[in-house]
Amino acid sequence: MKARKLVLQAVVMGFSANIATIKIGNPAKERALSDYTDLLCPQDKKKPHYETSHYRCDCGFSTTTWQGLARVLKGTTTPFEMPTLTKGNGEVEIAKIFKMTLAAFAKISDYVDAKDAEHPVTAEDEGSIVNLYKLIVAQTETGHVIILKWNDTKEEIIALLTTTLSGKIVVRKIIPPNLVIVGESLMLDQSKMTKQDIEEAKLFLKQIPDATDEVLTVTDYRMKQFEVHQPEESKVTAIGAIMEKARARKEIVDKTTKREIIVQTQTKKKPKK
Ligand SMILES: [Zn+2]
Repeated sequence: MKARKLVLQAVVMGFSANIATIKIGNPAKERALSDYTDLLCPQDKKKPHYETSHYRCDCGFSTTTWQGLARVLKGTTTPFEMPTLTKGNGEVEIAKIFKMTLAAFAKISDYVDAKDAEHPVTAEDEGSIVNLYKLIVAQTETGHVIILKWNDTKEEIIALLTTTLSGKIVVRKIIPPNLVIVGESLMLDQSKMTKQDIEEAKLFLKQIPDATDEVLTVTDYRMKQFEVHQPEESKVTAIGAIMEKARARKEIVDKTTKREIIVQTQTKKKPKK
């Protein structure tokens, strides 16, 4: 998504009101490999040039892909090592679980990655689902975030175990603080809001029109391209039902499980056509 300025406008009964002017910024970025390494000719460690689909060096060396070049620490000829961290063969990796208070997490929130977005989490056995549910509920109730850390092929991944606004469980990768290039942002501090502020805010929201199916449907070039006419069937599993079954069977005595929550199957409305 391009960084740009936007005027937020509400249209009510033909009248438009500008609510706010905002700037969509660039999220915090992770330092890219190209920021700290160079690709050189493997024979004489000179910088190759790219022409006619080849990386060519003055010494006569040429290759069609960057993989054929030598990766070195930027500005040096020291080889840059990228050791493999996983065992390979599709083996299951261990992710260590940690927790952190929200207050502490707010201080490092620049490292939440908007580039790699969120990855949905699914689990097959009931025990896993029940424990996922407990982690999610407990972190919300006690003001913590749950942090996971595991090895990907060559990189260590640090991620949050959390939910989307619609309540789906996701893993959200964050940028390691030692690799971050921070972006600009605004932060909400609700502790500074009075009751009156909140009442006014509620009245304000009443003036905002409701979103319709049409609002959530795109009509740009992609529609012509792919002929996507209606949303696919949802593949969401409702945890509530699984929890109920588990409770009936194991009689889990746990306060946190008494709350009714989380993932509900989405109701899909077919767009009118
Ligand atoms: Zn060369």
